[in-house]
Amino acid sequence: MVKRRKTREVKVGNVGIGGDNPIRVQSMTSTKTREVENTLKQIEELKKEGCEIVRVAVPHREDLEALEEIVKRSPLPVIADIHFAPSYAIGSIERGVAGIRINPGNIGKVEVVREIVEFARERGVCIRIGVNSGSLEKDLLEKYGYPSHQALLESALRWCERFEAWGFKNYKVSIKSSDLWENYRANLEFARRTDIPLHVGITEAGFGVGGIVKSAVGIALLLSEGIGETIRVSLTEEPTLEVRVAYEILKALGLRRKGLEIVSCPTCGRLEVDMEKVIREVEEKLKGVEKPLKVAIMGCVVNAFGEAREADLGLACGKGFAWLFKRGKPIKRVSEEEMAKELLKEIDAFEG
Ligand code: SF4
Repeated sequence: MVKRRKTREVKVGNVGIGGDNPIRVQSMTSTKTREVENTLKQIEELKKEGCEIVRVAVPHREDLEALEEIVKRSPLPVIADIHFAPSYAIGSIERGVAGIRINPGNIGKVEVVREIVEFARERGVCIRIGVNSGSLEKDLLEKYGYPSHQALLESALRWCERFEAWGFKNYKVSIKSSDLWENYRANLEFARRTDIPLHVGITEAGFGVGGIVKSAVGIALLLSEGIGETIRVSLTEEPTLEVRVAYEILKALGLRRKGLEIVSCPTCGRLEVDMEKVIREVEEKLKGVEKPLKVAIMGCVVNAFGEAREADLGLACGKGFAWLFKRGKPIKRVSEEEMAKELLKEIDAFEG
């Protein structure tokens, strides 16, 4: 079982991060923020998937102007993602966002960052200090020669010291490198030295299976050490997939349970059914079930009960039928056509 690091709590709107809160799942819209209806539609979809905080990009004035309406109608706290333009950070806060993300390294002058921090404090807005390979300060690049984990760490600690000196506490930090090990070391060291909540993710993880695996491995390395108070899986894909993957990572590590967890056997020569078809049917039928149960779909009756002992409920399939089982024990034989329906009945009746 993972023992989570103790951190202070910060608030993005009404969502607490760190402290005793569960690890928060966040994502970012991929629409043009200025297209208000499309952006809000995507936020709704993200919320349905379980996303708890949403970030929107604010690269142009039209995006900034759109924020007021988005914030007003968004069912999730909105974070404005700002690069380079301090006036957009101030403008976003004026338009009511719950948080802003800045990379102080690319805002430039310390006094300008301080003005943003002061304004955020007045309005109760959370700030994420972003530190990544691309926004490292020049002096640190010169000192270390490349964006090493030491350089990333030093940059993050330096900005935290300033925020603390300015008396600002409602902030979290992200330290990101596309190199998994640099990412791991920088975050690990930061976590050892502070109680500041960390936003964990792998930048530029990529597309398809490769992107998912890289994100999952990079994030899980840290989560398994108890590090990470909020996570974002960054994929070159639909943002709803980011949220799904984030929950799968948390579920796999036993850090959060959301809805049903469906597990299935890897299959082998004993298989007598079309497993893919069975799983698709069961998943379809169980969509939207929020009970936090582990359901196992096993390919045969020979080894299934033993293999799936950890599951709350499950199906062990035979040719044209399945045994429905509860905590590793068979309770009912059901026909192939009825198995998803019967499983759903058992889920409804299940009491921990
Ligand atoms: S449950 Fe049956 S089909 Fe699935 S891997 Fe085990 S023995 Fe093979």
